[in-house]
Amino acid sequence: MAEEVKKRTTYRSRKELKPRLYIGDPMVAVFRTLVRTTINRPNTILYPWEKLIMPDCFRGRPGIRLEKCIECKKCVKICPNQCIQMVPIDHPTLGKVNRPQVYVARCMMCGYCAEVCPTNAMMVTPEFELAAYTRSDLMFDPFKLQYEHKPGYEVHSPMITPSELKAGKTESHDKGDMAIKDTVELDPKKCISCQRCAKTCPVGAITMADTGEVNPKTNKPVKRPVFDNNKCVSCEQCVEVCPKSCLSMKEAM
Ligand code: SF4
Ligand code: SF4
Ligand code: SF4
Repeated sequence: MAEEVKKRTTYRSRKELKPRLYIGDPMVAVFRTLVRTTINRPNTILYPWEKLIMPDCFRGRPGIRLEKCIECKKCVKICPNQCIQMVPIDHPTLGKVNRPQVYVARCMMCGYCAEVCPTNAMMVTPEFELAAYTRSDLMFDPFKLQYEHKPGYEVHSPMITPSELKAGKTESHDKGDMAIKDTVELDPKKCISCQRCAKTCPVGAITMADTGEVNPKTNKPVKRPVFDNNKCVSCEQCVEVCPKSCLSMKEAM
């Protein structure tokens, strides 16, 4: 019992110390800053009349070059905040196509979408002043998302595989390098030659090749997809569309 009373007393005495920490210390800090800024230049700038110069690697809101997009949806899949979706547009030269729309209010400007984009259609822009009166104003449709491209707005983060790191290698790979590219694998036993994968591929990396066999039920030649890994952008659209789940991605990393 005596020990409990002692504990409570200690607790109370610590509590009594708090006003000094919460009130006294900040007052000293404020006074120090006041003296420093009276003698020297202030630490702040007169925003919005004055603006900081952003570094070249600054990642602002995403921007897009509509004509470079191949509808691979890699940006949609990678976005950690799920703020990208593909929407149909009627473009004067491209016609009726699907292009990414970004809900900028939810965007954390990580630049992953630009990093993963195989054609550098998606890029990071230096734009960060995005205040708006309504949330809907921050829904950037593909046309509003467009931005004039300048070299450096695309993101190229060199990568190295864990096995290479273990082996002591330091040389890294650029985007699109075959060594870090995920490739599609086919289980030929399951394939029904429906050609959906070839029709879906946004870059025409799949061709249906004759196997030389004939389907006994339909009497038609049996075809299997063949993948051109140089053209493939690892978007997984063929994997998603296959009705027999006979395609899978072999991860390089
Ligand atoms: S910058 Fe990051 S959060 Fe913003 S849209 Fe791109 S992937 Fe999503
Ligand atoms: S990753 Fe690039 S090419 Fe693919 S849909 Fe997004 S913007 Fe278009
Ligand atoms: S979508 Fe699947 S089943 Fe159809 S051809 Fe391609 S791999 Fe074969």
